[in-house]
Amino acid sequence: MINFDDSKCTGCGMCANVCPQGAVKIKEGKAFMSDYESCMECGACRVNCEFGAVDLTKGTGCLVAIIREDILKIRPKGAGCGCGTGSGTVCC
Ligand code: SF4
Ligand code: SF4
Repeated sequence: MINFDDSKCTGCGMCANVCPQGAVKIKEGKAFMSDYESCMECGACRVNCEFGAVDLTKGTGCLVAIIREDILKIRPKGAGCGCGTGSGTVCC
């Protein structure tokens, strides 16, 4: 489950840009989930939000993104959730 904190969201659009499913949209300067059904919980929106405005309840998506950020404390630079680093295979 994805939740956006309107008090932190600047409407920069990065989460919408990196979402591989096109599930995030920007409306009136704030991000929102436009399609919960297509979200695969990859974590890309959360990892790439510089403002900490995305809360993601971990599900069955890309565990690599979760491990990198929550356990290894590594925030990948640039777009994408960070999965596939070194393997050549990415999910987004
Ligand atoms: S990346 Fe963060 S601050 Fe930017 S639009 Fe998305 S939720 Fe808002
Ligand atoms: S978790 Fe992934 S699929 Fe779901 S909204 Fe964020 S970027 Fe899109």
